[in-house]
Amino acid sequence: MTHQKEVFKPINPGRAGMYVCGPTVYGDAHLGHARPGVTFDVLAKLLKHLGYKVRYVRNITDVGHLEHDADEGEDKIAKKARLEQLEPMEVVQTYTLRYHEAMRLLNVAPPSIEPRASGHVIEQIEAVKKILEAGYAYESNGSVYFDVQKYNKDHQYGILSGRNLDDTLEGTRELDGQGDKRAPYDFALWKKAEPEHIMHWPSPWSEGFPGWHLECSVMGEKYLGEEFDIHGGGMDLMFPHHECEIAQNVASRGTQGVHYWVHNNMITINGQKMGKSLGNFITLPEMFAGTHPKLEQAYAPMTVRFFILQAHYRGTLDFSNEALQAAEKGLARLMQAARDLYAMAGRKAPSWQYGEEAFGIAPDSCPATSPEVKAVWEGVYDTLCDDMNTPGTVSQLFEAVRLINSAKAGSVKLSEGDIQTLVQIFDDVVFGVLGLRDDEGAGAGGKVIEGLMDMVLEERAKAKAAKDWATSDHIRDSLAALGIKVKDTKDGVEWSL
Ligand code: ZN
Repeated sequence: MTHQKEVFKPINPGRAGMYVCGPTVYGDAHLGHARPGVTFDVLAKLLKHLGYKVRYVRNITDVGHLEHDADEGEDKIAKKARLEQLEPMEVVQTYTLRYHEAMRLLNVAPPSIEPRASGHVIEQIEAVKKILEAGYAYESNGSVYFDVQKYNKDHQYGILSGRNLDDTLEGTRELDGQGDKRAPYDFALWKKAEPEHIMHWPSPWSEGFPGWHLECSVMGEKYLGEEFDIHGGGMDLMFPHHECEIAQNVASRGTQGVHYWVHNNMITINGQKMGKSLGNFITLPEMFAGTHPKLEQAYAPMTVRFFILQAHYRGTLDFSNEALQAAEKGLARLMQAARDLYAMAGRKAPSWQYGEEAFGIAPDSCPATSPEVKAVWEGVYDTLCDDMNTPGTVSQLFEAVRLINSAKAGSVKLSEGDIQTLVQIFDDVVFGVLGLRDDEGAGAGGKVIEGLMDMVLEERAKAKAAKDWATSDHIRDSLAALGIKVKDTKDGVEWSL
């Protein structure tokens, strides 16, 4: 079948292991976090829909991510703690919870495991020992550095990004503390803590803390094994973070460890890179409330999610008011078609809540009789399985919208099998894999209307029981004026939009 083609070859049949670099929690989640959040959420859901048992690990960086080139300067979390006079773990707790809340609003399901770097210092110390024993690291004044030159003689440093050692020298800044390194491209595996550094642990080399790149090598191995299927993250992490991870893996366990690297591209704002100095650094709470000066209005989390899905994850994505407003309109059309479709099918939209995944495994065939509906069904799976081409999937969905609208207008006749196929696409793909939600209506977690309707119909039932016909008729007529039809059946009251 179209969607069963072998595009993904897992290490263990029927299982998929995925590690994604999560946030460094020292500030609010921003647009740069939304993209990997949504991208890898869709990938995990797609793999589940294709029948794999997925273990998705996404870490929280709560120590060791330094300000300059990730490897020099002050620890980002320790700095925030110093500025706000907090305990570093208070900073971590605050922003981890706020990150979770932003992801919940975006309908990004929680990962299977969310390990923290500070909870894996013992494992990181063990990894440093192994790399030292293998001869690819050296100790210098209580810190331990990876010997990139030595490694590059025996293996290839830069295999992922295609950079060579000379390339990596360019742009490397001379910074304080570099005196401890033999070469500027060497990176820290363990750093001796300066007296003012508040987060530190004992080790054989010094009272200090692990280098940032090490945590992902160690936590990936701990939860997914020496070799696992997929490693994801933003494109900006490819070098040096993931390149260093590969070098550490080869040096400590003799294997690169990762079968597929998946990187989402960066976002821009009105064509510019997002940055605090450019005044276009937009956090997700600002986006959802419309409070940033660059925003003309508030954008609902589902608009942001849908907008992200309209671009291929490997392409850049430019946020502008115009593009977001277009996405808002497109999403509204898709959701209206969903309501019409479920009404045609005489059933409710799926209503699973955040974190629950009730959508089914992709069927091998569809019962559609219309060639157009069949083509949409095939197109949806072809695009999803073609390197997660979500913009292609979205354009197939708008083909479905066109068919639903034509059927509603009476210009196209859909068979029962056609409607069943379209319902499966909305259940499993729109609300399932793509994780969209009908916040205005009743679809997949959009409980607002359903909850209100339950309340209103309860009032109508009470009025009827009390033989208060004026009130019950008034409720029925008011709902009809809103386009909501209420029907009394022997099983109770049914309503449709
Ligand atoms: Zn990482």
